[in-house]
Amino acid sequence: MKKVVVIGGGESGVGAALLARKQGWDVFVTDAGPIAENYQQELSSHGIPYEMGGHDVDRILVTEVVIKSPGVPEEAPLIRKLREKGVRIISEIEMAHQLYSGLTIAVTGSNGKTTTSGLLYHMLKSAGKDVRLGGNYGESYARILASEQPEMMVLEVSSFQLDDIDTFRPWISILLNITPDHLDRYQYRIENYVSSKFRIAKNQSIGDHFIYNGDDPAILSHLNDVGQEIHHVPITRLMYGQGILDYDGNEFEMTLKGMHNLLNAACCVEACRIAGLTEDEIREGLTTFVNLPHRLESCGEIDQVEFINDSKATNVDSVYYALEAQTKPVVWIAGGTDKGNDYEVLLPLLKDRVKALICLGANNEKLKTFFSPYIPVILETTKVSTAVEDGLKLAESGDVVLLSPACASFDLFRNYMDRGEQFKQAVEELRQRENRKQG
Ligand code: ADP
Repeated sequence: MKKVVVIGGGESGVGAALLARKQGWDVFVTDAGPIAENYQQELSSHGIPYEMGGHDVDRILVTEVVIKSPGVPEEAPLIRKLREKGVRIISEIEMAHQLYSGLTIAVTGSNGKTTTSGLLYHMLKSAGKDVRLGGNYGESYARILASEQPEMMVLEVSSFQLDDIDTFRPWISILLNITPDHLDRYQYRIENYVSSKFRIAKNQSIGDHFIYNGDDPAILSHLNDVGQEIHHVPITRLMYGQGILDYDGNEFEMTLKGMHNLLNAACCVEACRIAGLTEDEIREGLTTFVNLPHRLESCGEIDQVEFINDSKATNVDSVYYALEAQTKPVVWIAGGTDKGNDYEVLLPLLKDRVKALICLGANNEKLKTFFSPYIPVILETTKVSTAVEDGLKLAESGDVVLLSPACASFDLFRNYMDRGEQFKQAVEELRQRENRKQG
């Protein structure tokens, strides 16, 4: 019987443990921190032993294979010990891949992974394919395989998940963009981060397809890292730069808005063509997709001012696309935990577009100092309700109030979803108050 240890008791680790158990392997889960109640129950109900709050190093060092969850950093003392001893360490997606016989479509990039993998899944599903969606968002790859073997799998993969792959080889890989993110996990070297993203295609070969952003300089400069025998499908602005998705003179309607989503959708169209969908099926999928919340999500109008929740925009690049997508004057709400942001790239978009900035963070000094020469009105608050009220005061009919923070949310909120939900609630409360006033 194979003996494996899973490090990390989150979605990925528990999925790996369930899959290992299904294979009849001897599996043990260990986590340096706590394991959530629901995961503990799941492990117990499958008779999988686990420990938390520390590691039984002697037990772990004698294992054949270690499956490392993506959240566990390379510098963790346990990982160092295992490396020194030469124990084989693989990621959860590597393990799952070795046990999957269907077709994998994997999506990675700094921004747009969830949107693109969700759209692609929807298009394939609505065309009648036997497909499942998993990976970095939602259910882990291994968890899905523990219960079924679909014909196709759309996987969102993060750079951390790609770090410990060995043979992971998608049939179709999609690389959306590479901009600095999570550099703390890559020795602050962008080269390391780029290499990690490129691992998505490293094992691809004849018969496989590599769809990528053909305008992204970081991607273009590393194309030599990928086999030339793979079918290369570069997506460039020539295909969507006019603000519409136009293939061979055929325009595609879609529910998603913004230039960045045209890139995402173009990648999906190419993947669906490879997967054998008809043009009609592709059209159907593009016009019936509903994105997840907190991504340029329209959340209502008050006095003809539209409020948009883009709380998921936790880095500068996604704010760039959010601002670029706006055709009306914007009151912009931003701020939170700054991850070493460089706001310079946003400057060309501010002119004629952003009329006011409301800083929503515990410490707003950096935002205020940087933007005060460029944005005429800057306010600050730590309360979402005040930000929404001030947004309405500063906006005129026909304007947009856009929450697109460029920062993480942990200074004032539990996470980006909490921030987005509080924003939507504040908009709804203000809308009702304004209605009562007018009624
Ligand atoms: P991820 O899963 O990579 O974090 P999401 O689909 O959740 O990506 O989107 C995160 C943020 O990035 C949202 O604010 C969204 O509007 C923005 N975004 C989506 N696609 C792109 C893209 N291709 N380029 C840049 N930003 C994007």
